[in-house]
Amino acid sequence: MSDNVISYLEMCRREKASLQAGMNFGLGGNHSVVLMSVRPNAPYRDRLEDGGTTLVYEGHDQPKSEVVPDPKLVDQPLTTHTGRPTQNGKFFQAAKASAKGERPPERVRVYEKIRPGIWTYNGMFHLIDAWTERDERRTVCKFKLVAVENDEDLDQPVRIAFERRRIIPANVKLEVWQRDQGKCAICGAADELHFDHIVPYAKGGTSVTATNVQLLCARHNLAKSDRIQ
Ligand SMILES: [Zn+2]
Repeated sequence: MSDNVISYLEMCRREKASLQAGMNFGLGGNHSVVLMSVRPNAPYRDRLEDGGTTLVYEGHDQPKSEVVPDPKLVDQPLTTHTGRPTQNGKFFQAAKASAKGERPPERVRVYEKIRPGIWTYNGMFHLIDAWTERDERRTVCKFKLVAVENDEDLDQPVRIAFERRRIIPANVKLEVWQRDQGKCAICGAADELHFDHIVPYAKGGTSVTATNVQLLCARHNLAKSDRIQ
């Protein structure tokens, strides 16, 4: 299940980790977690491409310290000063190995902050490539993740032949959240909410405008998917 609203505490409980850091490689040995934000004041430049099926995720900065007073002026590190891989380095190695066909893609669950206190689970992604590039002042890491359908079961091997999925952009989610006042559009329930495509994507519905997206509670979301199937 993706596109559901989730609290920060539920995220941490689900991942059995305190998700302080945005990048968390190899949680539980079978998947990774990243936190994203495309809001204008977000600290990193994450972006969606290919009609919302691809996430280009920016790596993370050096921690701020006496030697690094402004992390935004320093190259994003792949290793620590003792030569061990940083989170950037771990994701980078896995992405490159997968791009060369040496391992299946790392499965990555993506959570997105759409506004303070409101997160959504954007579903499962595969990490398929990584590179470094120059921005105005320094070198940053970029990671290519594709949104995949039906690869949520961590007990199963990674599905190589996956179908792509489209995620709903954060600005659309935010608009829907405000329009539906944070409640199910049918019954007004305010918990276990899900962003639902009114006309399903497979039937030509779009993710890019709020008019085709509504908030539904778990019960009404389930009732609707039963009816469609
Ligand atoms: Zn409802």
